[in-house]
Amino acid sequence: MSIPFIDLKSQQSRIRDKVEAGFAAVLDHGAYIMGPEVGALEARLADWSGAKHNIACSSGTDALLLALSGLGLQPGDGVIVPSFTFAASAEVMPVMGAVPVFAEVEHDSFNLDPNKLDAAMDSARKAGIKVVGIIGVGLFGQPANYPAIMDFAAHHDLWVIDDAAQSFGASWHGTSVGQLAHVTCTSFFPAKPLGCYGDGGAVFTDDDKIAEIIRSCRVHGMGKTKYDNIRIGMTGRLDTMQAVVLDAKLDIFADELTARQTVADRYAAMLGNMVEIPSLSAGATSSWAQYSVKLPAGSDRDAICARLGEAGVPTAIYYPIPMHQQPPYQHYPVSADGLAVTHDLCARVMALPMHPYLTEDAQHIIASELRKVL
Ligand SMILES: *Cc1c(COP(=O)(O)O)cnc(C)c1O
Repeated sequence: MSIPFIDLKSQQSRIRDKVEAGFAAVLDHGAYIMGPEVGALEARLADWSGAKHNIACSSGTDALLLALSGLGLQPGDGVIVPSFTFAASAEVMPVMGAVPVFAEVEHDSFNLDPNKLDAAMDSARKAGIKVVGIIGVGLFGQPANYPAIMDFAAHHDLWVIDDAAQSFGASWHGTSVGQLAHVTCTSFFPAKPLGCYGDGGAVFTDDDKIAEIIRSCRVHGMGKTKYDNIRIGMTGRLDTMQAVVLDAKLDIFADELTARQTVADRYAAMLGNMVEIPSLSAGATSSWAQYSVKLPAGSDRDAICARLGEAGVPTAIYYPIPMHQQPPYQHYPVSADGLAVTHDLCARVMALPMHPYLTEDAQHIIASELRKVL
């Protein structure tokens, strides 16, 4: 018997009736894309986060592209981004002809290190790249230290995007994700803490002008009407069925976040003497998208994962190769200080099953199998 890595089935049983009724309503009214449920969802997401504007869109990656459009990113501009992240955080710059500048992360939080941003600026300067902004990532569910990042940005006249694909639902000293940076982006890919049953995403901002540009870019740079094209945009809309799913999932989201914290607390008690467990920065909460432990240095991680798999305990490695070492990214600037922490994390992280429905019994099995293997 195998323990699921994530469990969308248990979750579905809680929301199925509401989802089916919502799907039936969409089949009746027939507004499949950007129907009235999408506007209602945007209002609910804005309310949840405290951000003034929410713009729902087609994926987390498209949310980043729309945010960069709203901020006026130009070809050749540099954007600081951690190398220890999912591809999409860095990919959106080359897609727009701009340049990712890879920066270092903190060992404990896995997130952009505010004290190493200067070194990234240095390497960009040496490469003749003008840095215009920073994309921070709330990796595995915990926000980066945005007050410090925003402070650095203010000194250098940069904007800041929070890539909160994994960290929507979390907070920093009481401030919700959605309000920590100039623009926040999230993903509703099914496996994310708040996921739909297809692709989806959203952008949050308090800035009226940026929100207006993003709404326009979402529909091919539309002006007053659909066939009035005042800027270059894209197809970035959310479909109505996904809004129905997200509305149902938002009903139980707070409860699920509490359950994820309980699961994380139990892991901490069971695993703390075997591996380095993830820790929260002071004042931070996490939406626990992943539970990533650090194996002891020199461990044979592939063998450990294989043996856990045989014992019915699935694992995943987020992320085995840093972005600056992926072939299409190797020519972009890398922090002048080097990325030693990033390399160490890529070599040692291992993610264990994490979802709100993980039972204490299942966690005991996971802990005891890990103990045997180590
Ligand atoms: C999942 C993810 C994205 C991209 O979201 P999609 O909806 O899959 O496009 C971007 N950034 C991070 C950190 C992610 O985890």
